[in-house]
Amino acid sequence: MQRLGLRTLRGEQAWAERAADILPGGVNSPVRAWNGVGGHPLPIASAAGAVITDGAGRDYLDLVDSWGAGIVGHAHPAVVSAVRAAASNGLSFGATTEAEVELAEEIRDRYEPAQKVRLVSTGTEATMTALRIARAATGRDVIVKFAGLYHGHSDALLVAAGSGLATSGVPDSAGVTKAVAADTMVLPYGDVDALTDAFAEHGSRIAAVITEAVPANMGVIAPPAGFHRLISDLCRNEGAVFIVDEVLSGFRAGPAGGWGLERDADIAAGREPWAPDLVTFGKVIGGGLPVAAVAGRADLMDLLAPLGAVYQAGTLSGNPVAVAAGLATMRLLDDDAYAHLTRVSTMMRRGVSAELASHGITHAVGHAGTLFSVFLGLEEAPVTFDDVSRQDALAYSDMFHSLRGSGIALPPSAYEAWFVSLAHTDEHVGKVVDAIIAWGGREAKQ
Ligand code: PMP
Repeated sequence: MQRLGLRTLRGEQAWAERAADILPGGVNSPVRAWNGVGGHPLPIASAAGAVITDGAGRDYLDLVDSWGAGIVGHAHPAVVSAVRAAASNGLSFGATTEAEVELAEEIRDRYEPAQKVRLVSTGTEATMTALRIARAATGRDVIVKFAGLYHGHSDALLVAAGSGLATSGVPDSAGVTKAVAADTMVLPYGDVDALTDAFAEHGSRIAAVITEAVPANMGVIAPPAGFHRLISDLCRNEGAVFIVDEVLSGFRAGPAGGWGLERDADIAAGREPWAPDLVTFGKVIGGGLPVAAVAGRADLMDLLAPLGAVYQAGTLSGNPVAVAAGLATMRLLDDDAYAHLTRVSTMMRRGVSAELASHGITHAVGHAGTLFSVFLGLEEAPVTFDDVSRQDALAYSDMFHSLRGSGIALPPSAYEAWFVSLAHTDEHVGKVVDAIIAWGGREAKQ
């Protein structure tokens, strides 16, 4: 890394040119290019615990955590040793291992609606497969999704999507055929009337409704009370499949993801909980290596080949090294772990919000369970993508660079969640709050 000479501006420029010469935009995934905040990211050299180190040797407190996968902290010794042990037994067999069954059981034991599980390698594959199962089960074509929510980059789900598309202000991708887009119906998030009207008019054509259990790809949005129950009821009445995407929120927003938070609230209020028909997982279940899953009702999951007629396959699906990382990660996620994540994330969002308020900086905090993000320039927490787009993305970019100067790595986009891990401590929260004080003081004077 030293060879790159990244400690000088010329070295940095040479690096940026070299990367951009071979990788489109210098990256292998768009948001990494900092197109949402400006500037040129340096390559990452290493990470340990809550700290990530760039190629110039600069340390940052990491609030990205590999976009949520790093829930136990970077290079956790238990995960690294499980990966080492698995790797030394062979990297890939293309045949089933006991550990795959254990990881699937671990998922089911924590998340009851996941009666059966198919492991895949990315969240994109998981949601794409869920749609295929839903279409096969119903014999219908139309998928309902919500504007600003992101479910990976399969064609059908790249219509009005969040994450990197929201950051670049191009929610619809080029290269998606009109025919595919026509089968995706996009509704404003949380809009009860739009949803009931869609079912009243097109109910018999709707194969599935897909939503994020906690929308977190246009910043974090708290699902409006009763919204998921309504989707569940409408799907049941019309014979459609309710797909809950927990790729980001699963085993992160709380012990049983975003769905678990609502189940607990329902039980506490004496209501019968609703349940998804299909659910998708990713990020946390791979602990930083490529594992994702589609899971759900056994009768739907059994439509998958080799039992059923829905084809889905993967050379590296259930890869033993990746599964070892996922299992070791899940096993660290006990009640104490969630108590820690809850405490640290709550302290951080409250601390940041209090400092912004004390400097008179208009902002709102979106949160559900341990997930949160900060929207500058909004008076109240947003619900729809239109609400979110009124945030002050330029002010976010200024805050991003100021915090970077204070040794803190915020997500490089105003449209992403802030992630904490088991390695984040009270002192780390203090460091973030101090950095906000430093930025807020300057911002308030302008
Ligand atoms: N669904 C959600 C909710 C996500 O947040 C993401 C990734 N951020 C995906 C699906 C796609 O997962 P992957 O990047 O692993 O394909």
